[in-house]
Amino acid sequence: MLKVENITKYYGDFLAVDNLSFEVNEGEIFGLLGANGAGKTTTFRMIIGLLTPSSGKITLDGHSIDYSITDKIGFLTEERSLLTKMTVKEQCIYYGVLKGMQEKDILTRLDELLKKFKIDDYKDKKIKELSKGNQQKIQFITAIINNPKLLILDEPFSGLDPFNVELFKEEIKEMAQKGSIIIFSSHRMEHVELFCKKLVVLKNGKTVLSGELKDIKHKYRKKNIVVSGDIDVDKIKNIDGVISVTLDNLEYKIKISDEKIANKVFEVVSKGKNITKFSVEEPSLNEIFIETVGETYDK
Ligand code: ATP
Repeated sequence: MLKVENITKYYGDFLAVDNLSFEVNEGEIFGLLGANGAGKTTTFRMIIGLLTPSSGKITLDGHSIDYSITDKIGFLTEERSLLTKMTVKEQCIYYGVLKGMQEKDILTRLDELLKKFKIDDYKDKKIKELSKGNQQKIQFITAIINNPKLLILDEPFSGLDPFNVELFKEEIKEMAQKGSIIIFSSHRMEHVELFCKKLVVLKNGKTVLSGELKDIKHKYRKKNIVVSGDIDVDKIKNIDGVISVTLDNLEYKIKISDEKIANKVFEVVSKGKNITKFSVEEPSLNEIFIETVGETYDK
């Protein structure tokens, strides 16, 4: 288990991470989210032992994280860090050896991964000759070459087309099933929603949301009502507690401040014509994120 207990990080006088705590079990994919500058990279660096927290404690299976266990860790950084003059094979051997692997084991694993990502004929190509998406695949392969116990993925899908996003997703899920502890970070909330049962959202270093995604959604009082049919939009807009009414893909989306308002909306909707749908839905993680993190989102 990865245990992050009350970690705080100051850069000089500047508080970058403030009293952050969470736990991730084997087989779990955990979301660590926040707008730019929220403190995610600082947290990743503390987890892998590159930065020392100003206070607090981080342990993997009860041991503090230091150089003796870096062989068990994989980190896919948001920025690419490939040595572009090397061939794919040389690059993977380089990273594999750094992780304490034998060359023959690296090559076996490399062949398996190149095949999975459908780039088996790229082994002897120079990194600089590869497209952006294929470089991202190599970056991912170098992060998982050692079958890491703890894997940190920062924007893993950047530069990938939808087909390759699916290949990556499959591999990430498989690694979790095999028992890896995975921390996933992305600004793409639809990916986070798909993967992460538990998450933390940081804003200026402070934890503004944390826990199970389903509880976070449940606690968030605002809901969306989706209606299909001809309704009296003005009348609905005038109901106390209705925040907005928008038409999206031939369906009305009515945002309400509390689930209790749904009855009042239903009364008006039921007087409409050709009503084929009325459903009260949880907000998306994206809506919750934007509202919680507010104006600092993606600046
Ligand atoms: P992004 O999504 O943009 O990568 P982030 O959530 O990873 O952002 P961090 O890089 O952890 O954010 O930065 C958190 C805060 O700490 C920012 O305000 C940043 O300017 C500051 N910071 C980061 N590194 C340093 C440093 N070495 N010295 C001083 N301040 C720093």
